[in-house]
Amino acid sequence: MAAVPAVCHFIVPASNAVAQSVLYCLVTAGTAVALVVGIRLHRPAAGAVWWLFAGGQTMYLAGDVAYFAATAGGDTGYPLFANVLYLAQYVFAAAGLVLLGARRLPRRNTSALIDTAILAVAAAVIWWVFLIHPAVAAPGFSALDRVWATIYPVMDLCVLTVAIRLLLGSGARQRSYLLLLAYLGLTLAADTAYGLLSLHGVYVTGGWSDAVYLASYLALGSAALHPSMRQVADPVEGRSGATMYRVVLLAIATLIAPAVLLVQALRHVSSSDLVVVAASAVLFLLVLTRMAGLISAQRRIATTDGLTGVYTRRFLSEALDVHGERAARHGTSLAMLLLDVDHFKRINDTYGHPAGDQVLVEVARRLQDACRSTDIVARFGGEEFAVLVTPDPDGLATLAERLRERVAGTPVLVDGRAAVAVTISIGAAELPGGASTDDLLNAADAALYAAKRGGRNRVVMSDPEHAAIAPDTAKPAAGGSADVEEQIRQWTAAVAEAVRRRADDPGVPTSLVAGVCTAWAVMRAAGHPGLSAEQARAELRRCRGLVFHPHAVDAFLALEAAGLVGTPEPRGGATAAGDARIAVSA
Ligand code: GH3
Ligand code: MG
Ligand code: MG
Repeated sequence: MAAVPAVCHFIVPASNAVAQSVLYCLVTAGTAVALVVGIRLHRPAAGAVWWLFAGGQTMYLAGDVAYFAATAGGDTGYPLFANVLYLAQYVFAAAGLVLLGARRLPRRNTSALIDTAILAVAAAVIWWVFLIHPAVAAPGFSALDRVWATIYPVMDLCVLTVAIRLLLGSGARQRSYLLLLAYLGLTLAADTAYGLLSLHGVYVTGGWSDAVYLASYLALGSAALHPSMRQVADPVEGRSGATMYRVVLLAIATLIAPAVLLVQALRHVSSSDLVVVAASAVLFLLVLTRMAGLISAQRRIATTDGLTGVYTRRFLSEALDVHGERAARHGTSLAMLLLDVDHFKRINDTYGHPAGDQVLVEVARRLQDACRSTDIVARFGGEEFAVLVTPDPDGLATLAERLRERVAGTPVLVDGRAAVAVTISIGAAELPGGASTDDLLNAADAALYAAKRGGRNRVVMSDPEHAAIAPDTAKPAAGGSADVEEQIRQWTAAVAEAVRRRADDPGVPTSLVAGVCTAWAVMRAAGHPGLSAEQARAELRRCRGLVFHPHAVDAFLALEAAGLVGTPEPRGGATAAGDARIAVSA
């Protein structure tokens, strides 16, 4: 619609200034009408953005009319009223762009903002050196002329900054969006050309710079009329990485300030040196900030588990080294828990792998909730977690038991529907300062293994001083290992039963007593008489409060003294279930 007068504008001979002016105003007016028609036709959700553009275009039209009316009346200066209207157009357009940016890119993206700032500062250097400063310093310009010569480029720079931010955003680039960007690019090019031509006194009305203006209006009108204008302000995902293209762009931007200094030096002009040097420093700091952001993002990726959000094994091993050295220096102990989800494969098989993932996320969340902020919770492997524990006044056993209960206490809801019962087995180890971190891991691993063998859903504390739970012997060797496992299973079942039946509640969770029972079984199981009953009792008393909860040891020894549990049955005797019953009821 507006294209017809736009083409006619250049067909009409330059001598017919009135006809040219009328045609020019018709293009501006046509664009404003196109914006209103587009809004009415497509009814975009972000109507305010388009109404602001329409308001801006109306101001432009009014400015043009005021300008042509004043110059037709013989006014040789630039009419103030027209300038005010042109400025109002900027305000409307900038408000529309800011609103568009806020709707399209709602998520705060510091990296994109820094990139935008780098490009905007680089552009400002060029604008200042080649446009603003020469106009401000030019002889023969009135004070008002200087003000306008400064304001327009500054406004252009503001528009450019928003345009860069939009350009650096990701997401679908609809036809209408591209036309909007074309409108911005063409307007900025025309403004710059107009500024430079005026500065050097060679601007002519109806020249090629006016053609660029007219092309920018046509782009704006087309953007409003295209049906994709409805989606232009839809939110898109933020992007904060540094693609090669982005790095090259930023490198060029940061080189602009020194390049400008070089050009100035070659031209023997040094009037803007201070501004350029200051801009250079700002650019340098911005690039440094961006680099720091990238480094910390990379570090976050390396130290955070992608699925569960807890630390990675790599971070844990770094932390282990640091804590190990500190413990050796201060002579403090070093403690860790290894936790493994019980029968996790079944969960995957029953509910599917995505549900398994949800269970892992929830388990990690509960572990983190139940730990203190100084403890380091990490994903150790598939469905294994580790906690590097800072000295806890309540003791390692209590913490471990708290974690076990927190996971087992409430079923995990997957897909918002299925409640999946989840339990974990925990191996806990505490070694004196100076011990190697490998030993700590091995001890926790052996204890975890014992917890699995002991029936799962339990805590087993490692006793580092005895081979009974040390890695080499805790794992079943060929031969009588099955006896030990069977014995652990029977005795811990008997402990649970006995605790349930006895009136004098031990005051500690059954699983802790079961942990003591596991240690007892490994020391005393049939076929493995490593220690005599008396030696084993003495050993448990020694570990009372150190490795095992004191009440758990007391409760176990009471059961053992009563003959309810812990006495090896003759080989080839009753069945496992029978053994448990006999042990309890004896
Ligand atoms: P146990 O009680 O002895 O620990 O039995 P388990 O089934 O938990 O142990 P097993 O090692 O046999 O199986 C662990 C399973 O965990 C196997 C693997 O497919 C699954 N797994 C590992 N990583 C992931 C993960 O990221 N997501 C899901 N959904 N499953 C995982
Ligand atoms: Mg498991
Ligand atoms: Mg496992």
